[in-house]
Amino acid sequence: PEGSTPTPVTTVSQYACQRRTTIENSNKIFTDAFEVLADSYEFSEIEGSCLAFRRAASVLKSLPCVVRCLGDTEDLPCLGDHTKAVMEEILQYGRSFEVEKILSDERFQTLKLFTSVFGVGPKTAEKWYRRGLRSFSDILTEPDIHLNRMQQTGFLHYEDISRAVSKAEARALGNIIDEAVHAITLDAMIALTGGFRRGKEFGHDVDFIVTTPELDRERTLLPDIIDRLEQQGILLYCDYQASTFDITKLPSHRFEAMDHFAKCFLILRLEGSKVEGGLNCAEEDRRGWRAVRVDLVLPPMDRYAFALLGWTGSRQFERDLRRFARSERRMLLDNHALYDKTKMLAVSLAGRVEERSSFSLCLFVSRPRSL
Ligand code: ATP
Ligand code: MN
Ligand code: MN
Repeated sequence: PEGSTPTPVTTVSQYACQRRTTIENSNKIFTDAFEVLADSYEFSEIEGSCLAFRRAASVLKSLPCVVRCLGDTEDLPCLGDHTKAVMEEILQYGRSFEVEKILSDERFQTLKLFTSVFGVGPKTAEKWYRRGLRSFSDILTEPDIHLNRMQQTGFLHYEDISRAVSKAEARALGNIIDEAVHAITLDAMIALTGGFRRGKEFGHDVDFIVTTPELDRERTLLPDIIDRLEQQGILLYCDYQASTFDITKLPSHRFEAMDHFAKCFLILRLEGSKVEGGLNCAEEDRRGWRAVRVDLVLPPMDRYAFALLGWTGSRQFERDLRRFARSERRMLLDNHALYDKTKMLAVSLAGRVEERSSFSLCLFVSRPRSL
């Protein structure tokens, strides 16, 4: 406000989209503990506490230095009593007893194990746990358990898809997608998004946005791409979701996590992928290939900026970007559009594609890499 003392430069915003965050995390000892607590609350469906610990982890990740005493956290937002108590334990004893208790809990360990399978969410994991199942062999030998196709694939490629994807592997997949798309249409554009776009060295999958200036082609292009990957013999799994995007229904007032663009969740076979430190990779080195998770999303070109912004992540960054738009700008943001509630207008980002993305960026003050 006017006349008051200027805000000190050290102030940390409560919004992740206003915090410059590097890929270096000086406070891993705390954020690892918070993530265990968040997972534990997620398994118990206590959403508020789960979000509180994820938010706290995100705040600490943005700090350039390690927190050495509780006094260092005095001016930080989003740290509640419970969070501070956990930090105090860690500062005093080098570890949190609450977190250790969770880590040694059988239910937590089992749910963590089951949800590490592609296609198994907390609900299914809980159901299996309640039936007394504790290991993968329990599941796979239980006659009454029906696994859907996604879960079957998840078990089949478990080792490969639980191992992190490197930047080099992401690049190799980029070339494969690029080649496949341009064999079908020459004027399509491909952009790497997700964690790799934020500068991460490793990811759990590789995310791409494909878009084309040809009107409505984005609705039919994806099945063509999938066919081609299949013909190349590298398609191990495909969950295709057709577009439900309807321009006449915009702007949407129901802002949800999932968007309406055509997309697919794939598992691809990546040839010649040798990983350093090959000790645990003996089998893969023999085979000469690995399975990798890949996501493709195809927005219409005039929605490209919103899709890119929405798919770059992180989850916390996206959550706070929407909250910032709503609370600080009286606007609604999702992966499709930005809507100005005061003017009752969709903010249109006309012009060239590059300008559209930078427009979305400058609107929200800064676009730091947020992990
Ligand atoms: P990782 O390295 O673990 O893959 P990531 O940040 O890339 O990290 P993803 O799960 O691949 O994580 O998600 C990337 C971004 O895409 C996130 O911001 C997420 O919100 C968004 N996203 C993922 N799935 C969907 C979906 N079905 N609809 C809309 N947005 C999605
Ligand atoms: Mn990703
Ligand atoms: Mn993804």
